[in-house]
Amino acid sequence: MERQGNRPERRARTPVLRLLLAAGFLTGTAGAQYRYSLTLHEDLRSVEVEIRHPAGDERPLAAEGGRLSDLTGLTGCRGEPIATDGGRILPTGAGGCLRYRASLRAQSGRRSPPVSDGVRVVTPGEWLWVPELRPGERLLIDVTAADALALSVPWTPLGARRFALSPSPGSATGTAVIGRFPHPTLRVPGGDLRVAVLEGPGLPVDEHKILEWLRVAAADVASVGGRFPNPDLQVIVQAVRSRGRSPVPFGYVIRDGGEAVRFFVDGSRPVGDFHDDWTATHEFAHLLLPYVRSREKWVSEGFASYYQNVLLARRGAYTPTDAWGRLIRSFERADRIDEPPRLDRLHQRSFRDVRMLVYWAGAAMALMADVELRSRTEGRQNLDTVLGALGRCCLPSDHTWTAGTLFSRLDALADADVFVPLFETFMAERGMPDLEALYRDLGIDSSSGDVRLLPEGRLVPVREAIMQRNGN
Ligand SMILES: [Zn+2]
Repeated sequence: MERQGNRPERRARTPVLRLLLAAGFLTGTAGAQYRYSLTLHEDLRSVEVEIRHPAGDERPLAAEGGRLSDLTGLTGCRGEPIATDGGRILPTGAGGCLRYRASLRAQSGRRSPPVSDGVRVVTPGEWLWVPELRPGERLLIDVTAADALALSVPWTPLGARRFALSPSPGSATGTAVIGRFPHPTLRVPGGDLRVAVLEGPGLPVDEHKILEWLRVAAADVASVGGRFPNPDLQVIVQAVRSRGRSPVPFGYVIRDGGEAVRFFVDGSRPVGDFHDDWTATHEFAHLLLPYVRSREKWVSEGFASYYQNVLLARRGAYTPTDAWGRLIRSFERADRIDEPPRLDRLHQRSFRDVRMLVYWAGAAMALMADVELRSRTEGRQNLDTVLGALGRCCLPSDHTWTAGTLFSRLDALADADVFVPLFETFMAERGMPDLEALYRDLGIDSSSGDVRLLPEGRLVPVREAIMQRNGN
């Protein structure tokens, strides 16, 4: 799933502006910028923060989940008093440098079960007080900690203990892990996964098994556009006990201070169970799209749900019949929702009631777009090539998109009118689209309860190409 946030949307940038920003012009990456120094202590209970800000730039500093009452020793670096207002720090009068000490509260609750001793899972948004970031701006963060302490953060790594914090959509809550835990870097096509492997009390995890599972799922998603859509993703894998069939009971994407994926795994399951499970492929597939606003999450969930089936079939974990069966049975279940709303009204209904529509309406759209692109261009274009182009132009993205801006961009990249007309068709209806004609063209028969693939149908070659095994 993709955890949802509600920060105001930032505007998209033009390609020229993106180039200038990437080159460090306009943002002052080479010159004046905010520089943070964090000092972590062995007891993992607090962090000392020193902030040097450019002369004349005295924007208030805020921490979304932070409380001023949790800070001690807030002063200028030469002891100047520092004012606060409305929960914000006002750096005026600090002489360009201020510091404080903040306690590091361990995350708790259902989404953050206990970890083994010597590891602390914390929320930077509670103790990192930052100015409101401008598009393209980067804060520089240097971390000082004992060599034995590992650190997992969503920020962009610039060196061993140096990071850049850039604007991000702020979906869900960014997480940092500090302490003693395995933190391998896994090289995947086009990127690095910076993995934190967290055992729980009495819950061991085999690091090699986890890395093999992540490597395969990342390769699935990298095969879509030719490279993994994030060059340095933070991945947190945390041990839990799973009572269900899946060895990965839960996973989600976070885009706050950088992109991250968090998985909860049952380390006692054999590696084969992990390879048969779609969770990691689904979560990584979310990164093929930018963050689309919360009220349109059917887009993000749908495209990820489409790819979880297609990619497991291409890898050989599902047969084509199995993959088509999973898609079509899910479409049918989504179609059985009572009084389905229009998709732009989904967010007004209880998630439990419309859950199948949230996950599968967008998957139907992804399938329809894929089929149309392939049949119109005789296979020269498909959903993979268009999402690959999106990755090259626009990802990872620092702001929230709407479904409308996303589909316009995809049409521009495909040089075809495919996505916007489909989107308009979907918006004109309630619930799922009618897929009978599409099934007929693809040679798919689901009338008897079982899904059967037939030899006759106008678009059978397209059906076969969608699920074709990698390397064939
Ligand atoms: Zn999802």
